[in-house]
Amino acid sequence: MSGETAGTQTVQEGARLIDGSAVAKKVRDQVAVDVAALRARGVVPGLTVVLVGDDPASAVYVGGKEKASREAGMAGETIRLPSTTSQAELLALIDQLNHDETVHGILVQMPLPKQIDPETVIDRISPTKDVDGFHPVNVGKLLIGNTDGFVPCTPAGVQVLLGEYGVRTSGAHCVVIGRSTIVGKPMAALMMQPGPLADATVTVCHSRTRDLAEQTRQADILIAAVGRAQLVTAPMVKPGAVVIDVGMNRIADASTKSGTRLVGDVDFEDVRRVASLITPVPRGVGPMTIAMLLRNTVTAAQRSVRA
Ligand code: NAP
Repeated sequence: MSGETAGTQTVQEGARLIDGSAVAKKVRDQVAVDVAALRARGVVPGLTVVLVGDDPASAVYVGGKEKASREAGMAGETIRLPSTTSQAELLALIDQLNHDETVHGILVQMPLPKQIDPETVIDRISPTKDVDGFHPVNVGKLLIGNTDGFVPCTPAGVQVLLGEYGVRTSGAHCVVIGRSTIVGKPMAALMMQPGPLADATVTVCHSRTRDLAEQTRQADILIAAVGRAQLVTAPMVKPGAVVIDVGMNRIADASTKSGTRLVGDVDFEDVRRVASLITPVPRGVGPMTIAMLLRNTVTAAQRSVRA
């Protein structure tokens, strides 16, 4: 976006875009190098994805994960189970995968049919194969700063993006909107840890936060993981802030073939006028999630060799 003059006032240059696709490619290229090194030692990193039922969105996500792991030279398998699968049957499958030495990463795609309790399922996956980073052992390791666990893929990907773009996190005020177990909470935990790409002062906002804009305007780094289309607007952002948009929301758009369009939790065109760096949607945080899943799976395979 080029600078322009409005009357006597110079309108600020637009924010620099964070190219999530390019960074994800870099992560995936390194993963492919690591996979080749493991293969040379006779170990083929294997990711097994379990899909229960026929949710169309889940089928698309699983297809993407399968393709990406194949492209990285990994042994990927997707086990598809009917929506009538019982919890006991799913737990028995997880037990089997936990004991299979060719399987380094296990991912059970959510949501699950209502007869299956997701927490019971996550608890059953071996923490050493929990490449989603959702098992309580890995959640605890993240909180205490123990780096031999697995960090959930989306927040881990955000941290890599910040590093690739040279964002100074130490001492920065990082405001996270959202407190989900898969994004908001681990994101906050990561940013508050002592160490590189962290050491931030963290504020976590949610639906009960009083005066959200007052909080977000304090942010040097603003991370939105809300699930509300274009909730964050320019007046909510401190000039020069780094804005990371995790949101993926479909809104109606008569000008597209499908009649819908993917947008984030940030009003991109509005906020890019005031931010210094911003992730677009799509091609921002999204591609990082799968890249970090591959990274975690290769790490699991590397650890299994060392163990
Ligand atoms: P979630 O579980 O629904 O959590 C949303 C969070 O936002 C909750 O903590 C909620 O507060 C808070 N919230 C809702 N409305 C709010 C408001 N008006 N003001 C302030 N906070 C509000 O969602 P999620 O799983 O974290 O996902 C968030 C978004 O990220 C979604 O759009 C999702 O599709 C996207 N996502 C993208 C990726 C990716 O790879 N790019 C990965 C995962 C998720 P309460 O806790 O008080 O309800």
